[in-house]
Amino acid sequence: MAEILILGGGFGGVVAAEELARTLGAEHQITLVARASQFTFYPALVRLAFGECAPEDVVFELRAAMLDRRVRFIEAEVARVEPQTRTVTLAGGDVAGDLHYDFLIFALGRRLASERIKGFYEHAHHLLTVEAALKFGAAVRAFHGGHAVIGSCPGARLEVPVYETVFSLARQLEAQGERARITVISPEYPSMRVGSADIARAVAPALDAHHINFMKHFPVSEVTSEVVRTAGALEVEYDLLMLVPPFTGPSALAGTGLTDEEGYVRVERTMRVVGCERMYAVGDAVSLPGPKMGHMAVRQGAVAAANIAAELAGRAPTETYEHELMLVIDAGGGDSSYLHKQLWGDGAETVGHSRFWHWAKRVQQHYWQATHS
Ligand SMILES: Cc1cc2nc3c(=O)[nH]c(=O)nc-3n(C[C@H](O)[C@H](O)[C@H](O)COP(=O)(O)OP(=O)(O)OC[C@H]3O[C@@H](n4cnc5c(N)ncnc54)[C@H](O)[C@@H]3O)c2cc1C
Repeated sequence: MAEILILGGGFGGVVAAEELARTLGAEHQITLVARASQFTFYPALVRLAFGECAPEDVVFELRAAMLDRRVRFIEAEVARVEPQTRTVTLAGGDVAGDLHYDFLIFALGRRLASERIKGFYEHAHHLLTVEAALKFGAAVRAFHGGHAVIGSCPGARLEVPVYETVFSLARQLEAQGERARITVISPEYPSMRVGSADIARAVAPALDAHHINFMKHFPVSEVTSEVVRTAGALEVEYDLLMLVPPFTGPSALAGTGLTDEEGYVRVERTMRVVGCERMYAVGDAVSLPGPKMGHMAVRQGAVAAANIAAELAGRAPTETYEHELMLVIDAGGGDSSYLHKQLWGDGAETVGHSRFWHWAKRVQQHYWQATHS
């Protein structure tokens, strides 16, 4: 019998747990640890902010869903992973102390490093939690004109909510017969980062149609109550501000030599951690180029689970992950965009614009809720 420990109850961890429970015999113990017993469906947070869905449509209980699939759930904070002794130190919550593992899946997502931007905490909105999205939603309802600045900070690896926010805001203002200036700020020229240029190109027609400005190479370093500023002293005044904060890797593996300079875990194509036996990593926590997306975490979770099942059966881990970008930017109708691009290999891409993708994004959320709650 093997002890399989999954750290993290997001897209990557949940899919890995379900796959392992489906394929392994009952003699193996599967345990999932997360700091909260709720799963958050992040792609719906923009719709939550704009009042298009309720908090109960975005979060669901993990403990009962996992137990149904015979996965033990522990609500606790992961403080440290020790690959040498194969132990994980938990602090607070259901269990405090060390847990031993035979196989580990590291799926702790990314950490928000808002402290890197002076004044972020005091003045900027973000929408990376349910509470923050609701607070931003209240600020949107109070905004009836002026300048809205929406964008991301250096190190933020997520563009979808930036574009979805500007489209939702533009639609809302148009419906209310109000006028405002909307500007997207981006830390670098899109061509400087894998995938960004493709996303910027895919949304360009919709940005033009709604008269939304795009300021590239605006690496925010400071926020005050009136302006967003770069280290090079470029400034933009705002009346409404939403920024995706910088991301870093989770701290539980710090100092082990298994992470890159931003704290993300280095993995092979099998999702096994480079230089470490019996440890896999999936999702936002891994060191791969390009945006960090839920569909990648889902695919990586399935690959890691298949390879652990193979190792337990005495076979080599041969399932591999293909790194590709697949996203729908919901612009609320005919402007909605779909982008599919290989991030390894020849970089072939498909781009589409239609009402269909607006509908498809909602179906995706309902499908996830129906199958996981
Ligand atoms: C607003 C928004 C919109 C998005 N839109 C899209 C989209 O349209 N399409 C798409 O594909 N992706 C989208 N994403 C990205 C997607 O949500 C993430 O890529 C995905 O959630 C990553 O999954 P994950 O399992 O790696 O991490 P997460 O979902 O972040 O889960 C991490 C888990 O680890 C737990 N955890 C973290 N640290 C600790 C600790 N120290 N101790 C214990 N538990 C811990 C957390 O509680 C959580 O359970 C969006 C994200 C946001 C924020």
